[in-house]
Amino acid sequence: MSPEELSKISGIELAPSHEGRVVYRCIGCGESFELENLLYTCPSCSSLLRIVDEKFDELKKRSGEEWRRVFDLRRSLDIDGLKGIFLFHELILPSVPLEDVVYLGEGHTPVIKANGELSEWLGEEFSIKNDGQNPSASFKDRGMASAISFLNNYIKTKNPEQVLGICASTGDTSAAAALYLSHLPKDAVKSVVLLPKGKVTPQQLAQPLSSGATVVEIPGVFDDCMKIVEQLAENYEVFLLNSKNPARICGQKSFAYETAQQLGWDTKGLVVAVPIGNAGNVTAIMEGFIDLKNLGVIEELPLILGVQSHHANPVAKWRDSGSYVPMTVEPSVAQAAMIGNPVSFPKVRGLVEDYFKDNFCAVTVTEQEIMDTMLHVNRHGHVVCTQGGEAVAGLKRALKEGRVPRGARYVTDSTSHQLKFAGFQDDYFAGKLEEGFGVRSREELINRPVGMEADAVRIAAGLGLKARAKG
Ligand SMILES: *Cc1c(COP(=O)(O)O)cnc(C)c1O
Ligand SMILES: [Zn+2]
Repeated sequence: MSPEELSKISGIELAPSHEGRVVYRCIGCGESFELENLLYTCPSCSSLLRIVDEKFDELKKRSGEEWRRVFDLRRSLDIDGLKGIFLFHELILPSVPLEDVVYLGEGHTPVIKANGELSEWLGEEFSIKNDGQNPSASFKDRGMASAISFLNNYIKTKNPEQVLGICASTGDTSAAAALYLSHLPKDAVKSVVLLPKGKVTPQQLAQPLSSGATVVEIPGVFDDCMKIVEQLAENYEVFLLNSKNPARICGQKSFAYETAQQLGWDTKGLVVAVPIGNAGNVTAIMEGFIDLKNLGVIEELPLILGVQSHHANPVAKWRDSGSYVPMTVEPSVAQAAMIGNPVSFPKVRGLVEDYFKDNFCAVTVTEQEIMDTMLHVNRHGHVVCTQGGEAVAGLKRALKEGRVPRGARYVTDSTSHQLKFAGFQDDYFAGKLEEGFGVRSREELINRPVGMEADAVRIAAGLGLKARAKG
């Protein structure tokens, strides 16, 4: 149905008309900057930037009830530029016209209810939002869709010389960046990713290679790659595609919008568990819920539960002790979250102080809990990655330690697809995770192929089948 037809039936205008006044706003000094230039930090004080709509309050002309209807009705439209995360166009990047939106199938990932057995194991009913079901198989596609749409609009309106899109990555950012950049005209953009050699999985390495990006491997860990990319972004004309780029955060807010929508907009007593690495995702999720609350689309902010491994937990330590100390990471199976100095930490701190005071909690889990939980969850109808396992493990622990209320509603974020991290499962089954990770393989979770002869009778015997009674 066209928006006009649907608008006529529903009596509500569905096509976006709000362009807003979208600017960069410094989280330190509060100064605003036009979108004319590509900025990642404040030119005055070097703090992080946020992209804000100075005319956001004009959106309040519509009631929360009306916005809920707009977003619900838009789901039955099939209009370019209003799909995926841009269904929430007014809240993401209203300055980007629909024709400049790049859509590759991201967003609207399913919220899957845990079955009875799994809920009993956790101690509460809960659901997993599977962001592994995005085009490059991680939530990073949400932010990449907004950042690349922003870039597409920038290229069309400013006609710059060829833009070099670049990012540092623990694997999934580069997969998403390379995918979305490859959709833009080749004469307009070039695509480069920087990876810590040996610290991304073979699947994640295959992804930017397949999208045709230049893949630069350097020694060290993610934090080392990030430092180099930051220097490049400061001193050369490049388009930074890390979550330091506020245009990424805009799109990643859609996780919050969708979760609220999938719960019928009822976020009362909701707990959302998220693994934290560079802290871009948790920042975006908090900002997304704040937008909805500001518009009256939801009544209450949920409780956000950040989860980290004991091998990389600066945010959880900060939440417990009150002081933030960047740390040197140790190997983690939640490799995509293995970050000792999260770039977006100042944003998290600000959001917690201003909005989520008692509604933000962070918990540390062990590598053992992460692996065991991932394997256990996947034996119950899910396809969560190690970080997705980490989120569930964090929820389990938080319930046990009384950090989150009982009897609430719980949604955990599985940030990528299980298959990206299949190597950790292989290593667990082979008992190879002891060293470095400190993970012991539990017999009941090990699963291996069983070799048998190509003979039905022997296979039946091997499987303990009873022969059918002949009659
Ligand atoms: C990037 C990533 C994370 C961490 O998200 P941040 O925004 O860096 O905190 C977690 N899980 C997966 C699968 C990721 O790719
Ligand atoms: Zn500033």
